[in-house]
Amino acid sequence: MRIAVPRGFGQCRVSGRNLLDTMSTLSRRSFVAGSAALIAAPAVAATSDLADVPVAIVGAGAAGIAAARRLQAAKVRFVLLEASNAIGGRCVTDTATFGVPFDRGAHWIHRPSDNPLLRETHSPDIYPAPRGQKLRIPPRAARENELEAYLAALVRANRAIIDAGRVADRPASLVLPGDLGVWRDSVEFALGPYAVGRPLRDVSTADLARAPERGTDAFCRDGYGALLTKLAAGLPVHLSTPAQRLDWGSALRVDTPKGPVWARAVIVTVSTAALVGGALSFTPDLPKSYTDAVAALPLGQFENIALELPGNPFGLEADDVVFERSSGPRTAALLANVGGGPLSVVNVGGDFAHDLSRSGEDAMTGFAIEWLSTMFGSDAKRYVKRAAATRWSGDTLIGGAFSIARPGRAAARRVLMTPLRDRVWFAGEAVHETLWGTVNGAWDSGTRAAEAAMRFIAGGEKALPKSGKKPKRNRRNRQ
Ligand SMILES: Cc1cc2nc3c(=O)[nH]c(=O)nc-3n(C[C@H](O)[C@H](O)[C@H](O)COP(=O)(O)OP(=O)(O)OC[C@H]3O[C@@H](n4cnc5c(N)ncnc54)[C@H](O)[C@@H]3O)c2cc1C
Repeated sequence: MRIAVPRGFGQCRVSGRNLLDTMSTLSRRSFVAGSAALIAAPAVAATSDLADVPVAIVGAGAAGIAAARRLQAAKVRFVLLEASNAIGGRCVTDTATFGVPFDRGAHWIHRPSDNPLLRETHSPDIYPAPRGQKLRIPPRAARENELEAYLAALVRANRAIIDAGRVADRPASLVLPGDLGVWRDSVEFALGPYAVGRPLRDVSTADLARAPERGTDAFCRDGYGALLTKLAAGLPVHLSTPAQRLDWGSALRVDTPKGPVWARAVIVTVSTAALVGGALSFTPDLPKSYTDAVAALPLGQFENIALELPGNPFGLEADDVVFERSSGPRTAALLANVGGGPLSVVNVGGDFAHDLSRSGEDAMTGFAIEWLSTMFGSDAKRYVKRAAATRWSGDTLIGGAFSIARPGRAAARRVLMTPLRDRVWFAGEAVHETLWGTVNGAWDSGTRAAEAAMRFIAGGEKALPKSGKKPKRNRRNRQ
């Protein structure tokens, strides 16, 4: 029996066969992250003027970088526009804050055996993520029978959601077994805010059921964001160049503060939350089916509170994942001693993460310290050297962590996979029916969009809408 506990960026995997063998461990994947300053894109610079191009790409996160690499490999010219002053989007490694890699966003490398980023880099710094997790009943460690009971409840709840999602698209909270007892809150946290950044009442069973089992995970010693940055090396990226408006009515034009970009195809990789927030406007307005689809795929909230804890004061292993038997939503998970180093990351998710993040970084680190103190029965404050917290939910260019379909709306992803007027493609983690919420899913969707755009361009004028009048200057730039 294989059981997947889905999360936007990863999935817990519990093998029924080895459940009891690994009493202190639950095979799973989660993620890490941290805080502080964004890194500037190193070897990547704006090397070309904004101009007439076959393809314009909006956003230089995983999807935008994948699309650009695919076009570059096919020698198709493109412009890659990034609104912020750094590449990577939600997959960025910060080395400035602590002097060691701190993945502010994605950290868990899912499906390493077929992860496209690993296929393209062959980094020696990749190592398998531990397959277990620990449980505490604060302030003590859970006993084996307690861990077994928790894992069994988690497995049953997850199975119930997956089974229900295969036949109907309902709120995941409604299909949970009724007998989860003292484990209910912990299970709801693990499957909801921790896994997908939203409470289960706001989560579609069908969306969760479509996420495949992902098996083992991996980590990169230099950080997942550093890996992505390596893959972007040499790409001409226009940093600090937001696409403000996309005119897709007749000729295709992207307005930026540095001037317009005329293109024959556009790939939009902006997150669903940023689209809802108006990070990019459309002329004419997007059709209702698209705006409904974007609204049906809000981003879950997930934040990382990184603490530098030299000397391993809680006696945990490298990359230990620790949960607690909780009561209520004010809880968290811990990724301890990241990569064997001094950083530990407290993960908060869902509405609690959103509210905490609004209270500011001090409140976030204050919560993390208080929570660790309760978990381990010892004043964590005296061990903390430095701290930092991410605030993805407040970032207007991102707006959260990973998309998750509202109940009844899992089909929205397919709507976004349909090109707009045959020449504007949406891409990014939200535009993947199974690998949503992950870097590898974003990468796949970017590659797919680039290939579709190239097919369109190769198809010539017949693929252009009848009303489309390309400006003359565009013609001379045709590939
Ligand atoms: C805290 C956290 C933990 C996570 N953990 C994991 C994990 O462990 N494993 C995993 O696989 N995934 C994880 N994820 C999810 C993963 O990071 C995302 O799924 C993935 O990085 C999304 O890539 P993307 O290209 O779709 O979007 P983004 O990374 O959001 O890229 C979109 C880009 O568009 C830019 N942009 C926005 N508006 C404009 C505009 N108008 N003009 C130009 N540019 C614009 C943004 O600045 C951004 O750079 C995590 C995410 C977070 C936040």
